Amino acid sequence: MKRSIKALTLEEFSEAMGNLGQPKYRAAQVFRWIYEKRKDRFEDMSDLPAPLREILNEEFSITRLETVRTIGSKDTTQKFLFELHDGQSVESVLIPASPALYGDAADRRTLCISTQVGCAYGCKFCASGLDGWKRNLDASEIVEQILAAERISGEKVNNLVFMGMGEPLANFDNFMQALRIINAPWGVGIGARRITVSTSGLVPQIRKLADEPMQIRLAISLHGATDEVRDRIMPVNKKYPLQELLEACTYFSSKKKQKVTFEYILINEINDGLDQATALVKHARLLNVKVNLIPYNSVEGLPWKRPSITRQDAFHDILKRQGIQATIRREKGHDIAAACGQLRLQNLKDKDLQSDQACIN
Ligand code: SAH
Ligand code: SF4
Repeated sequence: MKRSIKALTLEEFSEAMGNLGQPKYRAAQVFRWIYEKRKDRFEDMSDLPAPLREILNEEFSITRLETVRTIGSKDTTQKFLFELHDGQSVESVLIPASPALYGDAADRRTLCISTQVGCAYGCKFCASGLDGWKRNLDASEIVEQILAAERISGEKVNNLVFMGMGEPLANFDNFMQALRIINAPWGVGIGARRITVSTSGLVPQIRKLADEPMQIRLAISLHGATDEVRDRIMPVNKKYPLQELLEACTYFSSKKKQKVTFEYILINEINDGLDQATALVKHARLLNVKVNLIPYNSVEGLPWKRPSITRQDAFHDILKRQGIQATIRREKGHDIAAACGQLRLQNLKDKDLQSDQACIN
C-alpha cells in the first residue's frame, strides 16, 4: 500500500525519506511542490533527480479529490460535492467575504469542510445523520478539501470551519493530524485562530482538544438550553448532558483563554420559546460565550420548520436585551449550515442526473 503523502506531517515525511536512504531536505522540497506550487505528480517536480521521483512514485501517492458537482458562482457561496476513492462523497462550501456577517474582515473567505461520510450522532433535524455513519475521512481527505476548493475556485481560503458533514471530534486523530498539516507554514498555512471546530457536544474530546497546544476556536452546536429540549433533538445529550457540556466549555475557554461560541438553530415551536431564551441567557452569561442564532433550513423528509421572522427577532431580542453577544445569521447564501449534508443527500436521491446538468458554475 502506498502512503498518502497529504496525510503526513513534514517531520513524518522527512523520516520516511531518511528510511529510504534519501537526504531529509528532499522532504521539504517535495512539500513545496505540493503545498506552494500545488503539483500533484512527482513527474512535475523538476528539481528532483529522476531516480528519486521513481522511488516516490512507488512508495507514495498524491491523492486528489474530484468534484461530482459544483453549485454556485464566484461571488456567492459555492458548494462542492467531492467523490472519494471508494465512491463515497463529501461536501465542502466556500463562503465569500461578508463584512456584515464578520464585521472585521472584508477579505475573509471561509471554507466549511467535512470530516466524516455521514454522521453517527443522529440529531433529529440534520441531513448529515439521516443516512447514518459510513466512515471517517483520513487526514489527506480532510486537507484535500481545501486544496481542491482553491483549485476549482481560484480563491485562497483564509478561514476554515469544521461545520460540514460529520462530527469532527469523533474522528479525533485524523482531525488533529489534518489540523497540523493545515496549520503548518510548510503545509496549507492557515492560522489556528482562523480555524473553528464545531461539535455537538463530545465532552471528553472537548477536554482533550483543550489540552492540545493549538489555539483553534470552538463552537458548540447547542440548539437547546435545557436537557429536556436537547434530549429530544440531540441524542448525544443523553450521553453527555448539558451540565457536563457546559463544564467542558469552561475548561476549554480557561485553557485557551478565548471565548467559545454557541451555535443555536431556531426551529419553530421546538427550541424557540421564552423558556429556552431565558435559559440560554443564563448559560451564555455564566460562560461568557458568543451566540450565533441560525434560522433552521428545512430538510426534505423532516418535519421541522424555521420560525417566522417575528419569532426569530423576539428570541434574538431577549438575548440582546440581557447583554448577550448574539448575532442572527440571516443572509441568503451565507448560511453555512445549509450545506450540512444536504448536497450529498440530494445527490444520492438523483444519482442518475448528469453532473454537468446541475453545475451552474
Ligand atoms: N457535527 C458537528 C459539526 C457539523 S456543524 C456539529 O454538529 O456541530 C453543522 C452545523 O449545522 C451544526 O451546528 C448543525 O447542528 C447545524 N445544522 C444541521 N442541520 C441544519 C439545518 N437543517 N439547518 C440549519 N442548521 C443545521
Ligand atoms: Fe452529526 Fe452534527 Fe448533524 Fe448532529 S448536527 S447529526 S452531530 S453532523
